[in-house]
Formats: sequence, structure tokens, C-alpha cells
Amino acid sequence: MALKLTDLKTEVHNDWCPGCGDFGILSAVQMALAEMNLDPHRVAMVSGIGCSGKTPHFVRTYGVHTLHGRSLPFAAGVKLANPGLEVIDCGGDGDGLGIGAGHFVNAGRRNVDLAYILFDNGVYGLTKGQAAPTLKLGMKTKSLPLPNINSGINPLMLALASGYTFVARGYAYDVRHLKEMIKRAILHKGMAFLDVLQPCPTYNDLQTKEYWSGEGLLDAAGKQMPRTYKLETIGYDGVVKSADDAEREEKIKQAMMKAFEFGDHTPIGVFYQNEWIPTYEERLNQRMPSYRANPPAVERIARDDGTPLANVTKLLDELRVT
Ligand code: SF4
Repeated sequence: MALKLTDLKTEVHNDWCPGCGDFGILSAVQMALAEMNLDPHRVAMVSGIGCSGKTPHFVRTYGVHTLHGRSLPFAAGVKLANPGLEVIDCGGDGDGLGIGAGHFVNAGRRNVDLAYILFDNGVYGLTKGQAAPTLKLGMKTKSLPLPNINSGINPLMLALASGYTFVARGYAYDVRHLKEMIKRAILHKGMAFLDVLQPCPTYNDLQTKEYWSGEGLLDAAGKQMPRTYKLETIGYDGVVKSADDAEREEKIKQAMMKAFEFGDHTPIGVFYQNEWIPTYEERLNQRMPSYRANPPAVERIARDDGTPLANVTKLLDELRVT
């Protein structure tokens, strides 16, 4: 039976601020899951700490709200234990690129088959708007007493340099386009990174909905020009079509050049996709041929009478302090 959007909504009270870009991302996730007809019991959503961390509460799938900066290793663990699940991780730029930066880099190296959605708003919204890792040097939002003293991270460049095999960007208020990006990230075979420009109207008065709509930016005819444009409209193709290293390098270089564009002319869409790199699950299966058929989630851990199958006596003996 086809899933309806209402099947994916929960009754949990939502206290995100009015007008927050998080609402657009939440809608796009629910629309993507409904269109893909992914039964809720086949999906696990994982999050870290921040406004974005509440997302799994609002989507009727499995969900875990984990620790600050730790959602990626948790999500990888969920996927590796139960490779039959579609795993979607949500986090803000403070969560994922601040305290979680080490995990972000290493997730790219592993290429576990999951999707990571970054709620990129440049501020720590949950703790009153301190500068977060993607806010650029010298920018001063209304929540900061002085301009940002740190340089901003370019999340797309970091993902490309770290080995992510799908790198894309969406915009929270272009929900239909964002939904397509989420579907592609979920369908991608490998570690997918989706950077979402997410206005935080409460603390970031610079990268607002009006800013991205083109406020103050006029074309030659005096018409307001949006600050985002879609890569597909310029014939850009980031998909690697062969296992050839030269093609892969060319596509990464091309994506990096596009990742520099930000501000008045900001690309959204798929920057890079490569399904020729083996996933972590495939690498594991080479070492343990029984992994795919018998992953940890389906292994028996107890007999019918409840006694454990594993004998941990030897392990406990090794840990005994005398
Ligand atoms: Fe959204 Fe910002 Fe409010 Fe958090 S503080 S809910 S990011 S508008």
C-alpha cells in the first residue's frame, strides 16, 4: 500500500521558532520517504544535539537522538549492525563540523551506505546564536557582540577532501528540489553528504529567506535575482561514469571549483557522485563472507529459555582486578 505523508508524521509537539528553515527540511524528508514508499520500519533516523537534533522526534520511523557531535559513528553502527535499514543522520553545522568534525572526516573515509543531512545555518541556535563552523570570518549576526573571529569551514570542500562519494546542496525553502536531493542521497550507494542552507530567523539575520530570495540583488532589467541557482540548469554533471581514476579526479576538481561559489551566486544540486568506490559494507563482506547474510542484527543472542549464547566468562576473567 502506498505511504501517505500523514503516515510519516508524529504527534510530538514541535517548538522550533516560527519561520525556521528546519520546517522545510522536515517536510522534504517526509515527502521523500513517502514518495520512495519506504515503510517506517525500514528507516532509522539519527541525530546529534541542536535544534536539528529534534528531527527524528517528528518523523514516524525508528529514531535515536544521540550526543553532541556523535551522531555519525552512531548512525554508522546502526547501519553496520542492520544493513537492511535506510539510515538518515541529521545534524547542525555546530554539531557536525565543530565537536563532530573528526567523525565527519572519518565517515568519508569509511563510505558506509547512509545519508547525512547538515542543517547549515552558521549559528548554534539552541544555545542562543554563537558563531558556528560555517559562519565566515568577519560576519556579525545579530546574536554576536563582535564579528566572527574564526574562519568558516566550507562543508562541501571538507566532504570532497574526506572521501564522501555523494556531495550535494539544497535549500530549506526550496522543498521540492530538496526532496529530490534527499531521495538521491538515500538511493546513493555509499556515504552521502547533503548540505542544506537553513535560515535561522531568530539568530542569523544575514543569511535569511529574504537574502537567499535575492533581496538587494537586481539583474540588468532591475528584477530581483535569487542568490541560489540549480546546477542542472547550467548543464553541470557531477556523476562519475567509470572506475577510471582520471575521471574521478576531474569530477572532484570540478566540484571543488563549484564549492567555492557562495553568496550572490550559490549553486545547489549534486556536486559529485561516485558509486565506483566500494562501500564499507562491501569491504567488510570481503573479510567476513557471512556478514551480509548474517549481520549482527539478525544473529541470535540467546536460547529459547533466555540463557545467553555468548560465553563471556573468559572476557570477564581477563578484566578481573586482583
Ligand atoms: Fe530554527 Fe534558529 Fe529557532 Fe533553532 S533557534 S529553531 S535554528 S530559528
